[in-house]
Amino acid sequence: MPSYPRFIVDSMLGHVARWLRLLGYDTLYFRKIDDWKLIKISREDDRILITRDLSLYRRARKMGLRAFFVEDPEIDTVLAEVSKRFGVDLEFHRDDTRCPHCNTKLTYTTSIAEIAHRINSAIALRYKEFWFCPTCKRIYWQGTHWKSINQVLEGAKIKKAKLSSKISVTEKKVDFVEVGEKS
Ligand SMILES: [Zn+2]
Repeated sequence: MPSYPRFIVDSMLGHVARWLRLLGYDTLYFRKIDDWKLIKISREDDRILITRDLSLYRRARKMGLRAFFVEDPEIDTVLAEVSKRFGVDLEFHRDDTRCPHCNTKLTYTTSIAEIAHRINSAIALRYKEFWFCPTCKRIYWQGTHWKSINQVLEGAKIKKAKLSSKISVTEKKVDFVEVGEKS
């Protein structure tokens, strides 16, 4: 079982929390929370803080916390950047995914008997794989929205690749300047 980085996101980034949970990352999100509490949880719980608030980001960094400032909240961009920065895996893993709603690790099942009483029969007939949340009791399956989930993940991978090449060009430039100044 790999030990993932864990996250806490600010109240503007509920969509980021849902995606990180889908990818299996333990991610806290509260609709209303004070900045000092975000910082306290991030520090005490060793969670990377993801925020759209630049002053909060700076405060966290000053305190030596790991944090990420979201400039562009478009989901594929955020996923590309946190993947590049913190090694977030952009693949969905059947046995390692969390409830987008409550962050609990989901249980994967192909046994319709376990969940049949909670889904309608059309769904039960149509799908073979299900995930259920032991905490909030929600049930998930790879329905029609699954295509767009994959599209976002593919988009994030492409953006990440572009990001990598952009960063390496900048790093090379910095190296060049430093060498130039030394000589
Ligand atoms: Zn749940």
